[in-house]
Amino acid sequence: MTDTHSETAPDYAPVHESAEAVRRWLAERPSFALFIDGRWQASHDALPAIASTNPATGDLLAHIAQAGPQDVDAAVAAARRAQPAWAALSGADRARHLHRLARLVHKHARTLAVLETLDNGKPIRETRHIDIPGAVRHLTYHANQAALVAQTFPDHAPHGVAGQVIPWNFPLLMASWKIAPALACGNTVVLKPAEYTSLTALYLADLVAEAGLPAGTVNIVTGAGDTGAALVAHPGVDKVAFTGSTEVGRAIRRATAGSGKALTLELGGKSPFIVCADADLDAAVEGLMSAIWFNQGEVCCAGSRLLVEEAVAEPLVAKIKARLARLRLGDPLDRTTDMGALVDRVQHERVAGLVARAVEEGAAPWQPDIDCPATGCFHRPTVLTDVAPANVAAREEIFGPVLSVLTFRTDAEAADMANNTRYGLAGSVWSETGGRALALARRIKAGVVWVNCTNKLDAGVPFGGVRQSGFGREGGREGLLAYLKRRDRQQTPDTDAETATLDTDAVPAGVADAVHKAVEAAAKAAPWAQCDGRTRAAALVRLAQAVDDRRDALVDRLVETTGADRAAARHEVETSAARLYAYAGHAESHEGGASLAQPGQTVLTLAEPVGVLGIVCPDRPPLVALVSLLAPALAMGNRAVLVAGPGHAALADDLQALLAAAQLPQGVATLLTGARGPLARALAEHGQVDGVWCFTSAADAAAVEAAAADDLKRTWVSRGRSPDWLSPPAGDGAAFLDAATATKTLWLPHDA
Ligand code: NDP
Repeated sequence: MTDTHSETAPDYAPVHESAEAVRRWLAERPSFALFIDGRWQASHDALPAIASTNPATGDLLAHIAQAGPQDVDAAVAAARRAQPAWAALSGADRARHLHRLARLVHKHARTLAVLETLDNGKPIRETRHIDIPGAVRHLTYHANQAALVAQTFPDHAPHGVAGQVIPWNFPLLMASWKIAPALACGNTVVLKPAEYTSLTALYLADLVAEAGLPAGTVNIVTGAGDTGAALVAHPGVDKVAFTGSTEVGRAIRRATAGSGKALTLELGGKSPFIVCADADLDAAVEGLMSAIWFNQGEVCCAGSRLLVEEAVAEPLVAKIKARLARLRLGDPLDRTTDMGALVDRVQHERVAGLVARAVEEGAAPWQPDIDCPATGCFHRPTVLTDVAPANVAAREEIFGPVLSVLTFRTDAEAADMANNTRYGLAGSVWSETGGRALALARRIKAGVVWVNCTNKLDAGVPFGGVRQSGFGREGGREGLLAYLKRRDRQQTPDTDAETATLDTDAVPAGVADAVHKAVEAAAKAAPWAQCDGRTRAAALVRLAQAVDDRRDALVDRLVETTGADRAAARHEVETSAARLYAYAGHAESHEGGASLAQPGQTVLTLAEPVGVLGIVCPDRPPLVALVSLLAPALAMGNRAVLVAGPGHAALADDLQALLAAAQLPQGVATLLTGARGPLARALAEHGQVDGVWCFTSAADAAAVEAAAADDLKRTWVSRGRSPDWLSPPAGDGAAFLDAATATKTLWLPHDA
C-alpha cells in the first residue's frame, strides 16, 4: 500500500521529553484505588484491577481499580451528601475553588502532558500545547462563569449529582469539559474515565484534594463499560453527560428513558471537509493535517471525509501526499513527532479492519513511505481515493488516521454529499469566496462548522451535534444550561395526563398512516426553515389576528369542550393570542449572537431550527397549552405535527382552519387527534421527525424517550408536570425557545 515519494521527513535528531517525574509518581502507586468522598478508597466489589499500558511500547504503567456497583453507590452517595453545601456556596466561592484547581493543573502541566502521552500514545507536542492548556482554559472559563451563574440564570437551580462518562481520546481535557461546568453550576460529580486512559483523571483527583474542594464534590470511579453503565443507571444520579460512541450513547438513552434524568450526549461523527476549486489549497492541506491526522484521527469532529471539487481533486491529492511524506510517525515522547500511537491494540485492529473493508469495497489506499515503529499501536496515515458514497469509509466513523476522498461538481452536490450521513457533529468549508463559503456552511447539517479553518474549540463556545451525533452543547451559555434546571415552583401535576399511557403494542396502521402523511407534508414544507425571522414573525402575527377575529367562537368552543365558565375561556383565548404576538417578537430577536472567541476568530452562534417536531399536547388548558408549544416551534423555523387529546378534535379543526386563514404554508403545522399514545409513539419512531416534545404523563415521557433512542432524537418531556400555561413567565419564553433551537456554531477566521 505504500509509495515512495521524493520528499521525505526532515532528519531531525530526536528531542525526548523526560518522563522521570511521571515514572516516580507511578512508582509510588503501582495500583490505584478509587477517589470517593475526598480520599482514596479500596474497591468494595473487589473486581480484578485493570492493567493500564503504554500503547507506544506495550509497557505496563499501572493497575487501576475496577469499580463495581457498591463502589458506584458509595461515590454517588458521597456526591449527594456534598451537593447541598456546594450549591449553597456563593458563586465567588465556587469560582475560588475552580480557579485554585485550574492553577494547580497549570502548575503540573508538564507532568500531566507526559502522563497523558504515555497513557494515550498521542505526541507530547499535542499534550503540551493542546490537551493540558485546553483543560486549564475550561477550568478557568467555568470558574469565571461560576461567579455569574446566579445572575445569568436567576430562574435555575443545579440538577444535583452529575454522572459523567468520558472517552479515551482527550482524557484530561474531557474530564475538565465535564467537571468544570457541572461544578460551576452547583452540581457535584461522579466521573468515570475510559479504562484505557484513566491516569490523568487519577492525577487530577490528587489536585482536587490539594485544591481543597470539599470532600465528595468530585468523585472518580475507574473501570470498564459496566462501571459506566452502573453509574448512568444509578437512581441517585440526576444528570448524565456522556461523550463516546453513538452505540453506547444509544444504550445510555435507553437506560435513562423515563428516569427523569437530564441527558446530554456528544457522540460520533463523519464530518465533511469541503474544498472548493477557489480555495487556498496549501492552507486546506494544513487544515487537513489538523482535521484528520491530528491526535491520530481519534477525534469525534475529525474531518474524515474530504469532499473536493473535481477540478482541483488531482492537485489537492498530490499536495496531501507530498505533505504526508514529510510527517514524522513514532515515539510520542519525542518533541519532533507529529503522530503517535493509537490508543490500544483493539483500536488498531478496528482501524485496520475498516481500511481493509473499504478496500474490498473498491477504495484505492495510499500510505506514505515513512518510518513506522515495528512494535506498538502505530498506524500509517492513510488516504483512500475512489471512495463510493456507499463505501464503509464514507459512512462509518473510523476514528483513526484515515481520510476518505470523494469529489463533487456543484455546491448543491457538495451540500447533499456533506449531509448524506447519519451524523451531524461538525464540518468545514474551504473557499476564498466569502459568500460561497458561508452559503455552504449554512447548508451543512451539523452543530459546528469551520470556514477556512478546522477543529477550533473554546470553552466559551458551544460544541455538540445534531442527528446521531447526539444532543446538548458543551461550552458557553448552552453548556452551562445543560447543568441547570428551571426551578419548578410554577409547575403543577397534570392529573388528567397521569392516567394517559402509551401502548406498547404495535402502532395501528391508521395512526401510522396519519402520522406519515403529516410528517411527509412537514418534510415538504422545508423552505419554512430558511425563512428569515421577519417572515416567520409576520405569519405568527397573522395567526394572532385570526385568533382575535374568532375570539367569540373560540370561547364558545372552550366552554363547550372543557366546561369552563365564559370568563375563564375568554382569558385563555386572549392569553393565546398574546402569546402568538410575543413569539412573533421572539422570531425576529432570538436569532443567535456573535463573539470574538479567540484572537482572529469571530464566532457566530446561530439559532437554527431543530427540524420537524412532534409535539404531544396536554389536555388542559387545551388552547393556550397548544399555542404555547406551537408558537415557539414555528418562531424558530421548525415545522410541527401536534397531537391534541381525543376530546379536542373540534378545537383542533378550529385551529387548523386558523392556520389556513393565517396563510401558513401547507405542512408547516398539522394537528392530529385520536389515541394519544399510539400517535406519540409513531412520531417518536418516525425517521423524518427530528425531535419530540411530550407534555403529558410520566409514562408517556418514558415511552417517547425509549422510542426516540433508535435514531437519538432530541426529546423534551414534562413527565406529568405542566407549567402554569396561563402565566407568562412559566408558559412562555427562554426554555421554549431553547428547546426549539439547535445551536449551530460558525467559526470565521480573519486577520487578528
Ligand atoms: P465507548 O463509547 O465504548 O466508550 C466511551 C466511554 O463509555 C468509556 O468510558 C467507556 O468505558 C464507557 N462505556 C462503555 N460502555 C458503556 C455503557 N454501556 N454505559 C456507560 N458507559 C459505557 O467507545 P470505545 O472506547 O469503545 O470506542 C469505540 C469506538 O467509539 C471508537 O472506535 C470510535 O469510533 C468511537 N468513539 C467515539 C468517540 C467520540 O468522541 N465521538 C470517543 C471514543 C470512541 P470503557 O472505556 O471502560 O469501555
